[in-house]
Amino acid sequence: MLYHARMDLPTLDPCAASAGTDVLLAARPWLRMDVQDGLLFDGVSLAAIAQGVGTPCWVTGADTLLRRVRTLQAAMGQVGVPVAIHFAMKSNDHLAVLALMRGAGVGMDVVSGGELARALHAGIDSAGIVFSGVGKTDAELDAALRAGIGQINVESAEELHRLSARATTLGLTAPVSLRVNPDVESGTHAKIATGHAETKFGVAHDDAAALYAQGTRLPGLRMDGLAVHIGSQIGVPAPFRDAYRRVAALVGDIRAAGHAVRRVDCGGGLGIAYGDDASLAGVPAAWAGAIATTLGGLDLALSIEPGRWLAAPAGLLLSRVIQTKAAPTPFVVLDAAMNDLARPALYDAFHAVVPVAPQRRAGRVMHLVGPVCETGDILAADRRMPEMRAGELVAILDTGAYGAVMSSTYNARPFAAQVMIGGGRWSVIRPRQPVEALWAGESVPGWLVRA
Ligand SMILES: *Cc1c(COP(=O)(O)O)cnc(C)c1O
Repeated sequence: MLYHARMDLPTLDPCAASAGTDVLLAARPWLRMDVQDGLLFDGVSLAAIAQGVGTPCWVTGADTLLRRVRTLQAAMGQVGVPVAIHFAMKSNDHLAVLALMRGAGVGMDVVSGGELARALHAGIDSAGIVFSGVGKTDAELDAALRAGIGQINVESAEELHRLSARATTLGLTAPVSLRVNPDVESGTHAKIATGHAETKFGVAHDDAAALYAQGTRLPGLRMDGLAVHIGSQIGVPAPFRDAYRRVAALVGDIRAAGHAVRRVDCGGGLGIAYGDDASLAGVPAAWAGAIATTLGGLDLALSIEPGRWLAAPAGLLLSRVIQTKAAPTPFVVLDAAMNDLARPALYDAFHAVVPVAPQRRAGRVMHLVGPVCETGDILAADRRMPEMRAGELVAILDTGAYGAVMSSTYNARPFAAQVMIGGGRWSVIRPRQPVEALWAGESVPGWLVRA
């Protein structure tokens, strides 16, 4: 069984669907239910935010986000050599988030020319930018070379040759890491599905040493090292350890052939508890341990590319109940939908949902759905929650990663407002999109309609 990128588990803790609000909040100390003000996020009233900017509304907690950066930096401190963090900005690319990362000394992992432009616009030091991705266009490679970014992860022999040609044309040197597909066996997590895309990412392990050697002979390239990214939402250290062991062996092989290997990029993929699974609390330390034992002693510049672990718990989606609908399992129709939060429809992903109001009514099982005209527009199925009434607020938790970035305007639903909280304050960081913006830029050909 292969671990590979874009894989996504519905949840690591399927019992979470029945976990009560108290249990879910206890697992998230940044959230607290106040008997007067209702649900507080980093001490800020979510009801006040909903009152001020309306719903649906994404809320990002700057204090929580920064705390998670510091926690991961501290965990990596045990590796014994510095481990640079490059935030996988595809998980949340808001400029305010990038600014926070920049302030905390975190670089960026980008997967497109658009993300590169966004990172540079946010003032991220180009030396701290890594470009990953299985299909980079010539224009994107040129932009990366011109910007002088620190690392380009090459995913195929074809790309290696194309990058050499682009760099030579521009008279620049490309800093290359070869992304290896370590083909690691599972054995720990039966639920991690095998996909058909298993060879799409990276260079086959058996071909890597020869391709690396070839790279050292191509003009315009500086072969710096290896990169690996084995998947997402991984909650146990075993697959990381297996992958890094194979990468370490490869470092040895390449060096034995007389080539320098200066760096290894250990990828991202660290999982979070979307429900209440306390066993995931030690995941950063376990990840650091896997890096330390396999690669820590090899005189390498090490780096990681986490997205979800840093950003997901630091964000939530505030939504209001439009109406309830009686059914054997009642439907609670929210004003947030799959166009806002795509993960449940896209991956059957689990997100915990908690009421914002402090009053408790008897719990029952319900489906929380959006109003979009798709059967798949179910944000949370079969949840035991206090009975919900029209006008009530809910918080859909752990949506700070792969949340707003995946939104669309399907059903002509404008992009939701975004708010950042920090130090007890809150600020709108993106106003709700005006509906007119949805058709701005569209035009009707003059020949289509006759007067
Ligand atoms: C998506 C991605 C990441 C981040 O994955 P997370 O599961 O969010 O940590 C890191 N590296 C690469 C190459 C990716 O594609």
